[in-house]
Amino acid sequence: MRRLNIKAKIILATTIVLGLIFSVSSLTFYQQVKSAYLGRLDARLESYAEKLREEVEEQYLEKRFPYLPDIRSLRTEGLPDPRVRLFDSLGTMILSDSLLTDWPTKPWSDINVHEYLFEERQTPQGRFRTLWAPVEANDRNQFAVQVAYPLKDVEASLALLQLLLLIGVPVALGISAVAIYAIVSAAFRPLSDMIRAAERVSANNLSERLKLPRNRDEVFRLAASFNVMMERLESAFKGQKQFVADASHEIRTPLSIIRSELEYAQKNLSESSSHESLEAALEEVDRLKKLSDDLLLLAKLESLSISLKIQTVRIDEVLADCVTRMKPVADKAKVNLQLEICEAVEIKGDDDKLKSGVLNLIDNAVKYSKEGGTVTVTLSRNAGSVEVSIRDKGEGITAEDRQNIFKRFHRSESSRSRRDGSGLGLAIVHRIVELHNGTITVESQPGKGSTFTISLPEEKRD
Ligand code: ADP
Repeated sequence: MRRLNIKAKIILATTIVLGLIFSVSSLTFYQQVKSAYLGRLDARLESYAEKLREEVEEQYLEKRFPYLPDIRSLRTEGLPDPRVRLFDSLGTMILSDSLLTDWPTKPWSDINVHEYLFEERQTPQGRFRTLWAPVEANDRNQFAVQVAYPLKDVEASLALLQLLLLIGVPVALGISAVAIYAIVSAAFRPLSDMIRAAERVSANNLSERLKLPRNRDEVFRLAASFNVMMERLESAFKGQKQFVADASHEIRTPLSIIRSELEYAQKNLSESSSHESLEAALEEVDRLKKLSDDLLLLAKLESLSISLKIQTVRIDEVLADCVTRMKPVADKAKVNLQLEICEAVEIKGDDDKLKSGVLNLIDNAVKYSKEGGTVTVTLSRNAGSVEVSIRDKGEGITAEDRQNIFKRFHRSESSRSRRDGSGLGLAIVHRIVELHNGTITVESQPGKGSTFTISLPEEKRD
């Protein structure tokens, strides 16, 4: 049974259950028909016995008993040829059908106590149904009648019914099994398609989709979920490929710069310009280091097994610390860095990761500000959430860039010429905020400045 597939199991189980139902109901049906046949025969025997009683009683009272022709001529509807015996209370046989003459009699004491006593008797002429009944005259049972009727017609009808059931039940079961096979096969066809499609799937063939069945049933939902899963897998794989391509591209540029600078320094070892080339090569090495650090951090943040060191964090202190650390950078860029904090606010989060996110945003705000510009870091509370905004009055971001700004390696047209960015910073910030169940949004007007707002759930106080 364990080796069978689900389809075979369903067909086998339903056929067994149907077989049991068919057998029990045909057995019950056979019994019902049999007792209906016998019931009808018994009723006719009773009615015949009743007429005999009346005739015998009448003849006895009129003192002309036994007048056999009258008794023999009695008939009952549905009993064409009944056999009769008649006894008196001493057991003397007064009248007997030739067939019954040798049949054993019954003690008077047995007959006397029953109104009707039914029996079946096997004879060389076949089985008979017989009835014994006492006959009352002058308030006393004085005679007994025995009526017998052959069971051959009833037996023939029952044998025919038995034959029909013995042939009919297996035939009906066979037809049902074929119908169940057809229904189950039709129901399982989409599943078989699904298995074949799943078998065709590989890393290079993620475009495989299932045709959705017309009926919106469980199989439809399974196929739809399979397609959604394939959609996600395909886009994850595409993203992964794109990521690798972008990363190699980002690494290639500094590497080729380093190579040409080193080549120049090698050829002009004695000249002072070779010193500048080595310096440029070192700068590119630093850039590569930053890029590989960012790549590693992003990969860690995106891995499913990342575990944040969640604790209660004073977000106002985090912001103050970030501003203090970014002050020298802002001063160097001649940008005024301000902090506006409403009050002390606590949230649940990972202190280091939150700091790294905020530092990234302040670094960008300073980087994309003009000399003499202002960057403002603000903390406010808003209906159960804490909002951190970093506002600058720099170059701003176009609507098109705003859509892609949190994607990995995305850099605006204008910032691509700069050699101090990789396009990973905002992707890292976005992931950090996501891991804290928060959201990050950006508002910006090109030429006027941008505001990045992080919204985080506030820690509830009891
Ligand atoms: P990058 O290292 O290039 O700064 P980010 O992921 O931090 O990478 O930012 C992606 C791009 O978003 C930047 O290249 C820049 O075009 C744009 N951007 C980010 N912050 C600002 C800002 N405050 N003002 C204007 N543009 C910004």
